[in-house]
Amino acid sequence: MKILVTGGAGFIGGNFVHYMVETYPEDMIVNLDLLTYAGNLETCKPVEGKPNYKFVKGDIADREFIFKLFEEEKFDVVVNFAAESHVDRSITDPEIFVKTNVMGTTTLLDAAKEFGVKRYHQVSTDEVYGDLPLDRPDLFFTETTPLHTSSPYSSSKASADLFVLAYHRTFGLPVTISRCSNNYGPYHFPEKLIPLMISRALADEDLPVYGKGDNVRDWLHVYDHCVAIDLIIRNGRVGEVYNVGGHNERTNLEVVQTILKALDKPETLIKFVEDRKGHDRRYAIDPTKLETELGWKPKYNFDTGIQQTIQWYLDNKEWWQNILSGEYQNYFEKMYAGK
Ligand code: NAD
Repeated sequence: MKILVTGGAGFIGGNFVHYMVETYPEDMIVNLDLLTYAGNLETCKPVEGKPNYKFVKGDIADREFIFKLFEEEKFDVVVNFAAESHVDRSITDPEIFVKTNVMGTTTLLDAAKEFGVKRYHQVSTDEVYGDLPLDRPDLFFTETTPLHTSSPYSSSKASADLFVLAYHRTFGLPVTISRCSNNYGPYHFPEKLIPLMISRALADEDLPVYGKGDNVRDWLHVYDHCVAIDLIIRNGRVGEVYNVGGHNERTNLEVVQTILKALDKPETLIKFVEDRKGHDRRYAIDPTKLETELGWKPKYNFDTGIQQTIQWYLDNKEWWQNILSGEYQNYFEKMYAGK
């Protein structure tokens, strides 16, 4: 199979590319990424040079480019990770979220339809369901929970999901969607909660925590998300949505305290800051459909997964320090200039 993975220089897409290239040497993995501030070719280093891997730089919302690529490459499967993904950035600059997350998705859908792609998979988020109250631990998001978004980011992701489902209903495009909870693990861009807290704690800098730190997130190791997507593209039913989550709910404050403890740093580093506008209170996924239909079972629980992740950031300081220093932005030019 020839598989197009978009956004494969980002956090989850990058981990997925590693997983697919290693697991399926007989498949060809084409990684398409625009290399925005969040894309980093150093994340792709472990697969560079492998015979079943290729990188292409480009914009999923560039229709001419995308159609030409699909015509040339004749993909069997498309897995769309490419997105603007940071909620805080969507509050300050919503427009690029519409362009990439909505129009980029419809461009890929049109190309998939035109060139007869056998499976289009959309990587979505539990944030499309909005949030749950903190005092109702019995409630979980299922695939039939109504979409009820809070941020420009989640609104753009929900819009994209609706287009994906419409292309199935209207044009018969063989689509699937996964909606996953918060991911953690290696290669996570250091503006997101867990790597941000690790890098700041190591530098003895204040750790900014929104509000009282009591917002609850449901954490899943990125490896388990990658396995779930692989199962869905191979065995999932077309036209279906699958929730992905491992029942690892933690308050933001608990996550930060775990990191401080693991790094032997004092809790006095925690600094509570004004809450994010429209901040979702609690996310919690019910993954029963994925478990019963496709036999998915997460390998990691949060307590062991977070310790391994912290160790990864300690062992790979160069990776995230290059990002923080902005050096990675020159990497592409250095690596690919004149090739
Ligand atoms: P990320 O920001 O780390 O990576 C996004 C990647 O997309 C980057 O490499 C970026 O360069 C690329 N990109 C951005 N705009 C592009 C464009 N127009 N054309 C081509 N490439 C473009 O994001 P992530 O955290 O890895 O998330 C990947 C996907 O998973 C997103 O669709 C996100 O909504 C979804 N998701 C994320 C989480 C999470 O916890 N991070 C949870 C559930 C779902």
